Formats: sequence, C-alpha cells, structure tokens
Amino acid sequence: MSDIQPPEIRDHADPVEPQYATIKMYASREDIYPREVTGFFANWRWACVWLTQLVFYGVPWLAWNDRQAVLFDLAARKFYLFGIVLWPQDFIYLTALLIICAYSLFLFTTVAGRLWCGFACPQTVYTEIFMWVERKIEGSRSARIKLSKQNWTLAKVSKKCAKHAIWLGIALWTGISFVGYFTPIKTLMQEILLVTLGPWELFWVLFYALATYGNAGWMREQVCKYMCPYARFQSVMFDQDTLIVTYDQQRGEPRSTKTAKNPVLGSCIDCSICVQVCPTGIDIRDGLQYECIGCAACVDACDTVMDKIGAPKGLIRFSTANAIKNNLSEQQVLKSIFRSRVLIYSAILVVIVSVLAINLLTRVPLKLDVIRDRGSMGRELNEGVIENVYKLQIMNTAEANHIYRIKVSGLDSIRLDSPDQIELPGATTKAIPVRVHVDHDHGKQGSNKIWFQLEAIDNPALQVKEKAVFIIPHN
Ligand code: SF4
Ligand code: SF4
Repeated sequence: MSDIQPPEIRDHADPVEPQYATIKMYASREDIYPREVTGFFANWRWACVWLTQLVFYGVPWLAWNDRQAVLFDLAARKFYLFGIVLWPQDFIYLTALLIICAYSLFLFTTVAGRLWCGFACPQTVYTEIFMWVERKIEGSRSARIKLSKQNWTLAKVSKKCAKHAIWLGIALWTGISFVGYFTPIKTLMQEILLVTLGPWELFWVLFYALATYGNAGWMREQVCKYMCPYARFQSVMFDQDTLIVTYDQQRGEPRSTKTAKNPVLGSCIDCSICVQVCPTGIDIRDGLQYECIGCAACVDACDTVMDKIGAPKGLIRFSTANAIKNNLSEQQVLKSIFRSRVLIYSAILVVIVSVLAINLLTRVPLKLDVIRDRGSMGRELNEGVIENVYKLQIMNTAEANHIYRIKVSGLDSIRLDSPDQIELPGATTKAIPVRVHVDHDHGKQGSNKIWFQLEAIDNPALQVKEKAVFIIPHN
C-alpha cells in the first residue's frame, strides 16, 4: 500500500484560522557590561584612540601663516589645508581625496576585514573612552552589574551623575573641536566664553556633542548593528583569504569547564571570558557574525586564559577562512595577503594617489577666467582699430599678495587698451574689464583665437594662460 495520503479536503465554509507571527526588525537593547581586557590588541586599540584623538582635538589648534592650519571656511568658500588653499573650483581635489579614503577602506577591508571598525572607527574610539570613564567611576564588570541592579541610593546617584557629567564634558569638547574645523577655534572659544555664539555654531556644537554622548554612552553596539551602513555592505569585500577574528573549532571543541590538559577534550575550557569582554555581547565560538566588529578583545582574553592553563595561544585569533579550513601556517596566511585582487586594488590606489599628489604639487595658485563682453560685439573705432571688451576674473589662490602683468597675444598688432598690471591680495578674487585693440587690417573677419596671459612680476613661474575669441566684424 502506498504511503502517499490523499490531500486533505477542507470545507470552505469553515475557514482555517490564519496563523500570525511577529517578526521584530529591531531587538530592544539589553545592557552589556564588557569586562576590561588587556593584551596585545588592547594596546593597539588604545594606541589608535590616542592617535586619532590627538589628531582630531589637536589639528584645529595648529597655526599656519597667521591663520588656522586646517579650516573649512564654508562662508568664504575656501578650504585651508596647511599651505594649500582650495577654492570651489578645486572641488575635484576634495572629490579625489574622498575617493582615496573610500578606496583605502575597501582595500583595507579586503585584507584585514573589520579592523577599521574594531580599532579606528569613531564609534569604537569614543565608546572605548566612555567605557574607560565608566570603569573608573563604577568599577569592574561585576561591580557595574551589581550597581545597576541595586536600588537608587545616594552613592549610586552620585556615581551615575559623575559618569554622565564627564561623558557630557567629553562630548561637548568633541562638539567644539568639530565646529573648530569650520569656524576658527580661537574665535569659537572666545564666543563661547563671552556667550556670543551664533545660532548655527551653537546648533552644531550641541548636535555633535549630543550625537557623541548618545552614540558612545547609550547606544554603543546598537549603532554598529542597526545604524552603520558600512557594516551591512562590507561583507561583499570579504573573500576566503580576508583576515577575520575566528575561533578554532577543531582545536577548541569539545569544550569543557574542566581542563584543557585532558587530551580527550578541546582547548576551550568554556570560561566564557571571551563573551564577557565582547563589546557587542556575542559568542565568537558560534562562528562569524555580522555583529562582530573585529576588535580582537576576545583574542586577548582567550590568550590570557590559554597562558593561565599552559596551552598555546591562538585558540581565538586573526586568521582566514581558508587558513582555518586548510590548516595553513602563519607564513602561508601572510602570503595570501598578496593575492591578485589585493595587488590590483593597491595598484589602482597608488595611481590615484600619485595623480592627486602630482596635481597638488604642480598646481599653480592662480586662476583666470575670461568672459567676452557679449553686450558689445567687436566694433571698429574711428582710428581704424577693432576693439573687443572682456571681463577677466582673476583668482589669487596663494596666500601672498602678488602684482600680475596682463599680456594678450594671438594676432599681429594685438594690444591692451587698459592697465596691464593688477595687484591682488592673497586668497582673493577680482573681476576687471579690459579692452583689446587690433588694427583693422590684421586677423580674419569673424572669430580669431587669442590668449590672455597672467604672470606674477615677482615670480614669473607663477603664470596662467587662457584662450579667448576676438571678433572682427564683417564689412
Ligand atoms: S576565552 Fe577561550 S577558553 Fe574561555 S570560553 Fe572563550 S574560547 Fe573558551
Ligand atoms: S567577537 Fe571578539 S572580535 Fe568580535 S566584537 Fe566580540 S570581542 Fe570583538
């Protein structure tokens, strides 16, 4: 007899109750109390914190030629980067810079996975700083858990108030430093002290401060899990040879709470310290998870445990899927970094960086736009001379004053009938009308190509040439 049962015939008059299930797009936050971790990678993380924050907080205070060295002056539409002054016309350089940053991140992710997330991302860096403050005030992991469970006492209130006050202070200073990249920071500080801060500056200081306080103090891993777009798309840059934080299943399992010296058992003694140190609260032993930011806190923690039980380090380590699967040696893993994909990415990056560097280094800090006065076509003057009128838009994008000589060429007898010199202060622009004359028997009727040339009198290497059209009217 066949096992196949006839389909169940339902009476449509008696409809089946639909079954509903709730799919949660967002899991409400559970408090995570990461345990303090020390070790090789923790030292590197702190080095990154110091380096990035010294740069971020320090750069607005650097001076260059009597001005702030790095200033994005949006009101004047000028970007100062040490000796370079970029104008809106130089937007291409900023675009190239952004492309380089994005491309470097892609290359870096292909080689080393989420190393950026775990070590240098602002979210990680500020969370690290905020957690340090928290530990200093509220104590170790167990003390913090105990404190959060206990009733509100004066001691608890004062600890919480102190922690939030310091967090807010750091956040506020971060907001001020951020706005200091767009408004001269010394002026900003004066305005803050004299309570004369403009509404926009006040808004951005508070906005950035609150974002820092909220993200690093309250939301923490939620930002990485739900808000960061990079976390979502970076896996497409991973391949089997990308370095990731991995748990060596073959060596670790079967895990046991007893001892790793028992030859029947794996090396993992199931102490759960790797989970306790994880800032996103995951268990790396469950395999690669998108919540893992690659901070290597679990690597340091497990290495400490391995040291204590006398087992070799590296049960959790930076490795690749290929290496774990095929039991590759460290040398083989290192060799796999220089695979063709990485070499091609690197070559492209070197080309973009070189082109940008050459362009920036050979950039002439002088610009000239020629606009022919369309209101007055070429006209013949009484003396048998043809006159065309132009507007020269001159931009001195250097920081020093210069006197420029204006020359015109391209036709016999061509000459200026306007002052042939102009002085322009540094980082300014000026539009001047110029009249150009050509004897009526030179040039052809209609359009003739001519060139305007600007040359700094004190530095002839500082010159630009711009094409224009000279119109000779038809008889
Ligand atoms: S720290 Fe190491 S030994 Fe302890 S549970 Fe994690 S993987 Fe196992
Ligand atoms: S699993 Fe390890 S590397 Fe990943 S976030 Fe947690 S502690 Fe960091």
